[in-house]
This record gives sequence, structure tokens and C-alpha cells, in this order.
Amino acid sequence: MKREFVLPVEICPICGAKGSFQVFGRIDDIPYFGETMETLATCSRCHFKHSEVTHLGEHEGSRYEFLITSEEDMKVRVIRSSTGTIKIPGLGVTISPGPGSQGYITNVEGVLNRIKEVLTYAIESSPPPKRRVAEKKLKKIEEMIQGRARAKIILMDPYGHSAIIDRRSKKRKLTKREIKALTSLP
Ligand SMILES: [Zn+2]
Repeated sequence: MKREFVLPVEICPICGAKGSFQVFGRIDDIPYFGETMETLATCSRCHFKHSEVTHLGEHEGSRYEFLITSEEDMKVRVIRSSTGTIKIPGLGVTISPGPGSQGYITNVEGVLNRIKEVLTYAIESSPPPKRRVAEKKLKKIEEMIQGRARAKIILMDPYGHSAIIDRRSKKRKLTKREIKALTSLP
């Protein structure tokens, strides 16, 4: 079940314009995870845009691990809040939350497509040695999307707002040490 709402905000907190800022929200009940709230804040004047996903249930640091083995696995749902860190050790890729980090609800393919975009940009803008590394990673991602390469995907969130939703997904609590490492990053 979904509930949607719009919050009118009189003044844009970024540019100060009146009547141009809006927050759209959607609450969704996701099986095996609980209620999530997606929000999208936009300003039609300064074009500010920010999306976020919040878990309305428990708030315990969590770690999910999922092994991608087939094309079918591309459909597995991924909830990544702005505090979630995604790791694909086999690719040497880590997506850490930065200050402008956005939250989103997607699937495994969506995560891989985001990494593809970054790598494609790196290929266009890097000198040859770095370019070759990015090209190799890009090839591996293509194989993963086609279900021809196995890879592990890890999603860690010190606030428990992120998840990989599948019955084969392994979930455990983060240790105090892991939480400290995730929250002390620059
Ligand atoms: Zn604005």
C-alpha cells in the first residue's frame, strides 16, 4: 500500500525564492523490510533537487550481502538511503555516502547502471592506464548484467535505512567497530 503527499514550503531554503519549493513524499510498505518514506525536494527557481529514503521501522546498523549469479538477480530490490555504503569487492568498487548523497529505491541492475555511468565518465576523462582499468570493470559489469559473471554485493548502513530485499540476501547487525568505521569517514 502506498500513500503520497505534498508538503508546500513557502520559501526555498537554498535560493530564498517564494512559492517555488516543494517536497513530494511517498510512504511504501516493503515486504520483509517495513515502511519506507521516499521524499523528493525540488525548487523550480534554482533547480535544487534532493531525494532521500528513510526507513520508518527499526534503526539498527545493518549489513546485507547478496551473491549475484543470474540475469534474474538484476530485479532484486535495493533500498539505498543517503547513509548507505555499497561495496562490490570483485569489482573493487565502493560507493560511499558523500555530503550531497541521495537516497533511492532501485534494483541490482539500477546500482550497476549507476556504476557504469561513473566508469564511462572515467574512461572519457582519464589518461590511458586508468582508462584501461575502468574499461575492464565496465566489461565485468556487462557480464554481471547478462548473468555471466558472479559477484557479491554488500550494503552497509549504520542507521539501518538501507537493504537488499531478497530471501537469499544475508542480513546481520553491524558491529560497533564497523559502525564507527562507517560514521567516521570524511
Ligand atoms: Zn530555490
